Amino acid sequence: MTRHDPETSPRRAARAEAERLATAALTLPEAAADDAPAAASTRRALRRDAGAPQESASETRGIRRLAPVLLRRRLAGVAAAVVVIAGCAIAVGAAASGGSPEAASDAVAQIAGPPAVADDGIPVPQLAAVAATATPCDDPAFTTALAAGDDAAVIDAAGGGGAFRAAVASGIAPCVSLSDPNREWLVVNKQRPYDPVDYQPGDLVMPADVRALEDSALRAPAARALTSLVKAAADAGVGEIGYLSAYRSYTTQKSTYAGRVAVGGVAEADRESARPGYSEHQSGMAVDIVPCNGSCKTLDDVAASPQGAWVRDHAWEYGFITRYAEGRESVSGYEPEAWHLRYIGPELARAYREGGYTTLEEFFGLPAAPTY
Ligand SMILES: [Zn+2]
Repeated sequence: MTRHDPETSPRRAARAEAERLATAALTLPEAAADDAPAAASTRRALRRDAGAPQESASETRGIRRLAPVLLRRRLAGVAAAVVVIAGCAIAVGAAASGGSPEAASDAVAQIAGPPAVADDGIPVPQLAAVAATATPCDDPAFTTALAAGDDAAVIDAAGGGGAFRAAVASGIAPCVSLSDPNREWLVVNKQRPYDPVDYQPGDLVMPADVRALEDSALRAPAARALTSLVKAAADAGVGEIGYLSAYRSYTTQKSTYAGRVAVGGVAEADRESARPGYSEHQSGMAVDIVPCNGSCKTLDDVAASPQGAWVRDHAWEYGFITRYAEGRESVSGYEPEAWHLRYIGPELARAYREGGYTTLEEFFGLPAAPTY
């Protein structure tokens, strides 16, 4: 199990194998007891899900058709704010410059904090009423979708992935929790454990038509997306993509981490493995892929494989991001893992890609999480 762990860095692969044996010896009874019902449940879910429809392009297009309507509605509010603010700036600028239009823009640049007191006869704009309309948390379409647990509809109501991200990152959407483990926008890192710490998703299924090297499931939307991704990669001619670890329970992670501590101590374990309650795999929205050409290779082979190159360019189209990117350890807390894909949904993944983001922390304006 340790050999397949996502938080194992490439250069530690050899030692990880030795630790795997230690971990198995230490924790097998507990892990087996915990996993047996989950595995049975997974198999039942797989049978149920076998006929489930895949996400269709038409659904995605439908969402995009709605987005401009919502965007226009918001733009109208923004435009009103701009008009009022511009009016304020011009009025103050005119007052400061004795009425010269050419000097107005200079005066605007010098304004900091509340506007200067206007001359008699110049109306003072009321900005407070305009600012109060800016949060999506006041939009019934947004809050209704949020209460219904419909992540795609929430993002649609916000005006798309980019608008949703901007609202959350700027702090104007306090009704959105990045700690809610049931949401596609969940952020888990070394500073953000699960709440509850032993959270377990309720809709785990095995992805259809994907080679699973472990009996490890994903939440239903992520499973459907992985099926689509794997098919697209094969259609593109880059070869088969299989996977190792997807969902891992709190108890399984507890066993894995304890095994690492027993071998190398806490400091070393923390560099290589997530503590229980802090692993993205517990969300059911993370998966460790491997390239398969007949037989499947290892996690360390992903980065240099055709499948790995394709995933870097196309995973976002299916709602996945490479969660732990090259050179971002100081923010994400983990060394690069080309194999570890995290599902955040197609709209957020598009915004992530188009915005050039390389960590989920920066995407949502969260502090860096290099350590616990
Ligand atoms: Zn992983």
